[in-house]
Amino acid sequence: MQFQSILDYQNLDTDLLKVESEIKGSKEFQSYYQTKNGLDAATTAMVKLNSDAGDAIVVYEKLRASVNEVEAKIKDIVEADIAALEDIGAADYYDRQVAQLLETLNRLERDAQRCQTRIEEIKNTASKTMDQGKLLQVKLRDAEKTFREYRAGFAEKISGINKEMAELEKKLPPKYLELYKSLRKNKVMPAFVEYKQQSKQCARCYMDIPAGIQEKLKNVGDWCECPNCRRILYIP
Ligand SMILES: [Zn+2]
Repeated sequence: MQFQSILDYQNLDTDLLKVESEIKGSKEFQSYYQTKNGLDAATTAMVKLNSDAGDAIVVYEKLRASVNEVEAKIKDIVEADIAALEDIGAADYYDRQVAQLLETLNRLERDAQRCQTRIEEIKNTASKTMDQGKLLQVKLRDAEKTFREYRAGFAEKISGINKEMAELEKKLPPKYLELYKSLRKNKVMPAFVEYKQQSKQCARCYMDIPAGIQEKLKNVGDWCECPNCRRILYIP
């Protein structure tokens, strides 16, 4: 049967996929993977927190500068006020100005206080995140070691399968191998599927095969792409 070698190849590859999926489903891999994700998330969070803290500090400094400006203005007016005490109208005007500036000053100080609180919060969160990150780093080292040891248990099996596949590749018709690899790359597995003429369907995606393609799938050795899933339908 001219498809035998590619089917053998496909079987070996399927075994390889099973091993890979067993490894990925293991608690050793999951623990490693989750810890790594946790550490990545902590690292990203730290970058964000540092940037937030930087922004908040800039805002805080601007507010402090405004507070100083307003305080200076009030001081100027209060000093000028003393000189202008004799003019009641002017004194009244200065009083109103001072009252307005004091209001502004209060608002600025409240904003600055809020900003300072926010900076403290960011610092606390950053410190907790940093501690978490350190713990995760230690945990990741252990989880990675455990996972490597676990995976090493499959090394012989994997290299055996790879060796057999490499041997088979030498004998495979290049066209079949090319088609197979392209489907495998897109995770369309199994790539080669026997076509049963009486079903008139793709045995994997169950698409009805159009009459034009049925015509091309009549004799032993015929093959054609399924128009829906692109798998290779063949007549053994
Ligand atoms: Zn199909």
